[in-house]
Amino acid sequence: MSKNHSKSQANPADISYIKQAQDILAERAALMENAQDAIFVVDERCAVTYWNRSAERLLGWTAQEASDISPIQLFDGGAEVVQEIVAAIDAEGAWAGNVRYLHKDGTPVEMAARMSTFAERANSSARPKVLAINTDLSLSRAWAQKFHRVALFDNLTGLPNRSHLLRRLRGLRRAAKASPAFGALIVVDLNHFKAINDLRGRRTGDRLLRAIGQRLQAMLPDPHFVARIGGDEFALICSAEERDFNRAAQAAEKLAAQIQLELLTSFEALIGKRRLKANIGIAVFERASIDIADLLAQADSALSNARAQPDLRISFYDAATQQAAVSRMHREEELRSAIDQKQFALHFQPQMNSAGELIGAEALLRWNHSRRGMVHPREFIALAEETGLIHALGGWVLEEACRKLVAWRACLSSLELPLSINVSAVQFAHPAFTDMVLGALERSGADPRLLKLELTESLFVEDLNSTADKMNLLRSHGVTFSLDDFGTGFAALSYLKKLPLAQLKIDISFVTHIATSAHDAAIVRSIVTLGESLGISVIAEGVETQDQQRSLAECGCLEYQGFLFEKAICEEKFLHYLEKHAAATEPQL
Ligand code: C2E
Ligand code: MG
Ligand code: MG
Repeated sequence: MSKNHSKSQANPADISYIKQAQDILAERAALMENAQDAIFVVDERCAVTYWNRSAERLLGWTAQEASDISPIQLFDGGAEVVQEIVAAIDAEGAWAGNVRYLHKDGTPVEMAARMSTFAERANSSARPKVLAINTDLSLSRAWAQKFHRVALFDNLTGLPNRSHLLRRLRGLRRAAKASPAFGALIVVDLNHFKAINDLRGRRTGDRLLRAIGQRLQAMLPDPHFVARIGGDEFALICSAEERDFNRAAQAAEKLAAQIQLELLTSFEALIGKRRLKANIGIAVFERASIDIADLLAQADSALSNARAQPDLRISFYDAATQQAAVSRMHREEELRSAIDQKQFALHFQPQMNSAGELIGAEALLRWNHSRRGMVHPREFIALAEETGLIHALGGWVLEEACRKLVAWRACLSSLELPLSINVSAVQFAHPAFTDMVLGALERSGADPRLLKLELTESLFVEDLNSTADKMNLLRSHGVTFSLDDFGTGFAALSYLKKLPLAQLKIDISFVTHIATSAHDAAIVRSIVTLGESLGISVIAEGVETQDQQRSLAECGCLEYQGFLFEKAICEEKFLHYLEKHAAATEPQL
């Protein structure tokens, strides 16, 4: 159009431009007249001067009638609404919003209106001419509803479709409560449905699918959910409120068995004597932790499992794996909040030499669990390592150990006991590990020479050089190192001379049978020799009997830690122990 326009301006002498302009105007008028939107114009005298066909259709007034009424009569809110709109148009030249018009018969009609001035005013006090374009919202609502149906429901059965199922699962997860609630996704796959379709015709096939859909829905009370997710596949969400995994699994299995019975017995009218069977896969979920893609894959894998074995028509997604995953998630949450709430304490186990003197102590972590009482580290350290929580936990151990070193220095001034703490390989590997240690020492004011870090051999598998660098840096500040569980790790001993180690800790596995096993005694002896040659002291852990201590001493190992002397005890008992020990050994001190 603009091309025609410019052409006609370029040749004013050409009278065909008048014809073209008339055509353009006629075209515009036709567009306005036939638009789906109700369009009208109110002039400066407040009279309706234009009223298109959709305005007639939607509001009931003919163009002639509209020109005879006041526009105020058109609005459900009357003059008040009109004034509001006029004020906005005066200020900004336009107004847009939802309006309730009144149909000629008095019923309200909701429309999305866009109103604007479209011509110069005669003078500044004159009313503006206003063009109103109104979209019927009842129409778009109906479209939205239709769209919603198409997008979320299966056309044939009227059941929710796959997208709807995903939406429902997301909803369940969103609305999960604090306490765990379990449910199950059940996938039902009809057997030989294609054969039924071929033999009895598609229409029967369709009727069968509809009938099954209705049957499944009738079998399940609210808030269960049934969807058709494929040609002959249905999915059900069975409850989602069970208190534990097993209950959810049992409920789902019971329902699956009922479904199979129902399929076998209820559709004779449609398919005659042929017996309708289905394979069923079940995946149990915990609402708060639903991973939708995983859950669908699990239900599918359970279904494949049911299909693969002729006698097994109902199959769970590997329940043991699934339960382990759920319980791991809970334990992780529990551990996380335990760290936040500082539910941990250090216990201390003394270390002695062959003369019965106290030479140090090892700090061992305890989780003071609100239900389970004192929980030992072997139950949570691995989880903390896998989840990265070890950094927060290990950081706390470090700070706490430093605080204790300072507190004990104040109350037992004559004692200069080194305190060992366990550092996991994951924790040590953190780039900020050395900063963390030095920071904890500085904040507490603890003597770095009294802090001993117990590392394990697994640390040296990765990157010996960077491990050595970190150790040397800390060593230069006075921190010492012990190699824990020595003898159980990898065999290359060359790393020992590259690292600033102060102590080798012989693993309990060589200590337990040392009194009777020549083999273990030989290993201990060679560790002692190795330590001597490298100038590293050697201590044995897990010493429980005097026989073990004697054998260790015979092998040259003169430092011990174990139940023979004392278990790991809480701080209060440990301080008593220190006092008692100091009193008993006073002459030597
Ligand atoms: P570990 O460092 O080798 O600690 C020695 C473990 O042996 C401790 O178990 C201790 O209580 C136990 N024990 C001591 N004497 C005897 C004995 O005579 N006989 C027997 N049978 N056992 C004895 P605990 O406290 O359960 O700690 C287990 C492991 O958990 C520790 O082994 C250590 O690897 C880890 N751990 C403990 N605290 C921490 C910590 O703060 N951070 C990290 N990363 N790991 C820790
Ligand atoms: Mg240790
Ligand atoms: Mg150990």
